[in-house]
Amino acid sequence: MPGGPEALEGIEAAREAKWERPTFAGQLFLGRVFTSMLFPYAVQSEQDRQVGDAFCAELETFLKKNVDPDEIDRTGEMPAAVIQGLAKMGCFGMKIPKEYGGLGLSQVNYNRAIMMIGSYCGSTSVWLSAHQSIGVPQPLKMFGTPEQKKKYLPRMAAGAVSAFALTEPDVGSDPANMATTATPVEEGAYYLISGQKLWCTNGPVAEVMVVMAKTPERTIGGKARKQITAFIVERNMPGVEVVHRCDFMGLKGIQNGLLKFTNVKVPKENIIWGLGRGLKVALMTLNTGRLTLPAGCVGASKRCLQITRDWAQKRKQWGGPIGRHEAVASKIGWMASHHFATESIVWLCSAWADRGDFDIRIEAAMAKLFGSEMVWSIVDHTLQIRGGRGYETAASLKGRGEQPIPVERIYRDMRINLIIEGTSEIMRLFIAREALDPHLQLAFDMILPGRPMRQRIRAAVRSVGFYSLWYPPLWLPRFSSGCPKEVPPRLRGQWRYVEGASRRLARALFHQMVKHQQKLEKRQILLFRLVDIGVDLFAMACSISRATMLHQQGGTENSVDLAELFCRYARRRIESQFDQLSRPEDRGAYRVAQDLLDGEYIWLETGLVDY
Ligand SMILES: Cc1cc2nc3c(=O)[nH]c(=O)nc-3n(C[C@H](O)[C@H](O)[C@H](O)COP(=O)(O)OP(=O)(O)OC[C@H]3O[C@@H](n4cnc5c(N)ncnc54)[C@H](O)[C@@H]3O)c2cc1C
Repeated sequence: MPGGPEALEGIEAAREAKWERPTFAGQLFLGRVFTSMLFPYAVQSEQDRQVGDAFCAELETFLKKNVDPDEIDRTGEMPAAVIQGLAKMGCFGMKIPKEYGGLGLSQVNYNRAIMMIGSYCGSTSVWLSAHQSIGVPQPLKMFGTPEQKKKYLPRMAAGAVSAFALTEPDVGSDPANMATTATPVEEGAYYLISGQKLWCTNGPVAEVMVVMAKTPERTIGGKARKQITAFIVERNMPGVEVVHRCDFMGLKGIQNGLLKFTNVKVPKENIIWGLGRGLKVALMTLNTGRLTLPAGCVGASKRCLQITRDWAQKRKQWGGPIGRHEAVASKIGWMASHHFATESIVWLCSAWADRGDFDIRIEAAMAKLFGSEMVWSIVDHTLQIRGGRGYETAASLKGRGEQPIPVERIYRDMRINLIIEGTSEIMRLFIAREALDPHLQLAFDMILPGRPMRQRIRAAVRSVGFYSLWYPPLWLPRFSSGCPKEVPPRLRGQWRYVEGASRRLARALFHQMVKHQQKLEKRQILLFRLVDIGVDLFAMACSISRATMLHQQGGTENSVDLAELFCRYARRRIESQFDQLSRPEDRGAYRVAQDLLDGEYIWLETGLVDY
């Protein structure tokens, strides 16, 4: 959504235009709740579970024996023996099909493994996930030629590390404007890649990487269009240089760097999926790849719950365990219920990814957005509950004879999740764009400049036909709910709320479209509120579905308590967003921000030490 009509057209070209499979979250924004997609809660098969159980047991033993997360954090180095051991276990080929030497794990089992590693050592999980969620294996699996798969996948399954190079010093969230070029030579048999790639995870040690570069523009529909192409680049190709290894506030053990490419000669056979399809490769890879990051977040938040449970019972202040004081208890209740909701989203979407019968691009983006934001709050609450000890390093705690509980490290490691693989802001814009798609598909020909009058009229007629049938029922009361009979009684009202609020959301989105028309894309805060309502509704639906399954399996009310509590929190947030989708302070804040940027409030900065 950012940018003008030209940028909009550029993003259009890169995104997956068609919806060939059903979308649950997309329908929520249209006022429809596809109950049958959510009940029963999708889980992995028993056979797949056994594969995952065996692998995770082996992994756990390896981690406990060989990986010291605090030592990795302190030294900033991942021991070679750890990488070799992980490679030997097949961890670099978890998602690579067996026919290419990988373990061929399902998305659920892969995410279970990353969840477990993420609960123990953030750096180790990033080594593996950068390699196979966004690095070479995933795009090759999806778009590679048989030759490319045969050449690269077995190597990577055996432990050849890979990376994904998109970001540049001047280009972060807006990759369409990248500067790295790939110039065809020898009649297009080769390309010379030149440019810089920043913050490339695994980049300094990768043997193979996906590099995004601009290839010559093409004329489409009478207009010159930028082309971005994905190339497989080998580290030992002349002209590839690691300029700098980056060091961050957390994830100290990862290898991440600024890479320079100077006339790197790459054969055309190394193009993934075709010229000009690079951004599409990146976006579609991330549509599923994005599920791994929240799985890692779930691991960290499980660890936080464990730390909190232990500490809030053990630590006594003012006459009792701190967990019995209401202010602390309310934090713990919030943490447990929001952790439950995050897990409910992650495992449902992972199972959907394996089944492949639903389009999960919106759900995966919601999982990433919600998972990263929830874990950040959960870690923050954990730090607060641990008090001074939360702020103290594990080494210092150990040094004075206390248990080295690494909340300080987890805090530093987790912050980046709100930035990588799409910042929270970009995720909200992405979800808004996809949610608006059914409307834009109808209205695109009316909105975009330069469309012939006949096309505009046809679009207008199409729109009238659709909206006259779709809009009025959004106001009609429903006498029967689609709530499945197995939903426990305490959650039935919550489910009915999801149904009603979804229709309200669809109306609100439509009204704002009519009111702001093309300018809606500039009303980011308004759009973000609508997106947040959709995300909370999806989280409610997933939580109710999972609690229903757990309730049926074990007959316990535990999961119902968690789902009910989450729904109460979510409803309060949703009501507050609906109450005032546009607020006077939005305009006020924008004005103050612009004045501040223009130096009008420079007086606020007096008293600083200049550097
Ligand atoms: C540890 C680490 C690992 C990384 N790994 C990789 C990797 O392996 N490969 C790779 O290619 N990249 C990687 N990155 C880069 C990462 O993906 C980018 O940092 C991210 O895409 C954001 O880009 P940026 O930092 O340049 O922020 P910018 O794009 O400059 O954005 C700055 C701020 O402005 C906001 N913003 C930007 N545009 C808009 C808009 N239109 N509307 C509203 N808000 C907006 C952003 O949300 C953000 O808050 C990594 C970065 C780090 C720190």
